Amino acid sequence: MNNLRITIIADKQEQVLIGNGLDAALIQPQITFYASQDDFKKSAKLHNSDIIIAQETLINRGFYTQLAPFLELTKTPLLILKDGGAGSQSFKNHVVRELNKDAGGDYLKQLAPLISQLVDEQVAAAGQNKILFLEDEEIDITFIKRKFIKLNPQYECDVVSSIEALRNQVGQKNYDLIVSDFNLPDGDAFDSIVIAKEADIPIVIATGQGSEKVAVELMKAGAADYLIKDKNMGEHMLILPSIVKSVLNLKKLEAYNSGLLEMLRIKNQDLERFAYIIAHDLRSPIASAILLIDTLQMLADDLSADLRDTMNMLTDVSHNITNTIEGIYQYTVLDSQADAFVTVDMKKAAEDALQNLKTKVDESGAVVTIEAMPAIAANYVQMVQLFQNLMGNGIKYRGDKIPELTVRSFEQNDEHIFAISDNGIGIARENHKKIFEIFGRLHNSSSQYEGVGMGLTIVKRILERHNGRIWVESDLGEGTTFFFAFKAA
Ligand code: ADP
Repeated sequence: MNNLRITIIADKQEQVLIGNGLDAALIQPQITFYASQDDFKKSAKLHNSDIIIAQETLINRGFYTQLAPFLELTKTPLLILKDGGAGSQSFKNHVVRELNKDAGGDYLKQLAPLISQLVDEQVAAAGQNKILFLEDEEIDITFIKRKFIKLNPQYECDVVSSIEALRNQVGQKNYDLIVSDFNLPDGDAFDSIVIAKEADIPIVIATGQGSEKVAVELMKAGAADYLIKDKNMGEHMLILPSIVKSVLNLKKLEAYNSGLLEMLRIKNQDLERFAYIIAHDLRSPIASAILLIDTLQMLADDLSADLRDTMNMLTDVSHNITNTIEGIYQYTVLDSQADAFVTVDMKKAAEDALQNLKTKVDESGAVVTIEAMPAIAANYVQMVQLFQNLMGNGIKYRGDKIPELTVRSFEQNDEHIFAISDNGIGIARENHKKIFEIFGRLHNSSSQYEGVGMGLTIVKRILERHNGRIWVESDLGEGTTFFFAFKAA
């Protein structure tokens, strides 16, 4: 087996043993070592592997769950070196092969034959990839035959010698890749690229030395990669296998990505449907339960104080459930709301939000000042919600004071920044991150502050959808300012 690309996740000691063993048994293996699962995940080299070998104790279920769809798609064999650690069971459905390590190192001898066998099986399962060469010079055709076709029998190869012939040939078989020379009797590589693009086949161009500038143009025109020719020896044909593998894998990766996007779209649809069901089908039984508790309280006037307290708690809990459902629903449907951005007068959006908060403003005696603000391109409803959640919090978390809120805006470093300040209880610095997390509350349900911890999560999501950002400046007892910013157009 030539030039196999092998990815190994193993500890230092194992790396040396495996590396030596494989170097001796295989022809020019290209081995990439990782000392841990995390190192491996950070690397982009995954799609270039012919086989992945992983020491069982260095990987866990999370690793495999993430890798499974990829392995299924690329058929990259995974070989687990078992060393008796826990967790191998979870790999059972997907692992291509397991090899038991033994103290005597006998497994090292089995490694190379097992790799060859797995790669052969993979080639057989995947079917032969078909490559079409476009080359008109005799010497180069000889290089292709001697230094590529002969050494890489896993590919089915054809050679044509003109643009015209290429045009005819692409219709004859389902080629996976075209490798085209630059100068041709009836055109050049840019013509080949046009034909390849039309047929949706990736194309690699072989160009002469000193033509890197042209190579850039070729890539811009749509070539998947290029190869600098060694006119005398044809050595470039030895580099071609790794280019072929990465181009073919890239194509698979693209298919994988679009498959993932489609999966995501379907999942999102499911989620929305689920949110809809929660919102509509669960809200009404809970509302009925609240009504029943109220009725019970009215009917039984001689209830003991304990029982009355318990019933009040029950009402509070039910209200809390309703609010949580409402919060989750609002959050989930954010993404499905029409994306159409309009010019939003932010002062008007803040004033509308204030109007929606009228009862709370009246109850608390809050004094709210809304200063001049610019118009921006945004979703109007979501801007009102943004202000409403932040101003609502400013009023809610007031402590003993009468709330004083200021809503203002300024420009800085090409950003429109909006600030909502209050004179309330403030937020300790160590909690500045937590409050933006879903259900991230700093008060328990029995405190004076009602809430479910969804308000800032929704705010953050709205800003993400508008390519904006949010942060907070506050200290305990010092009042709070929430800032949010959008790129100025
Ligand atoms: P909720 O208000 O429902 O708890 P939020 O997501 O709106 O949920 O807020 C999360 C937490 O952040 C709140 O529980 C509160 O502790 C804190 N918080 C938010 N806004 C303010 C504010 N203006 N002043 C003080 N604390 C705040």
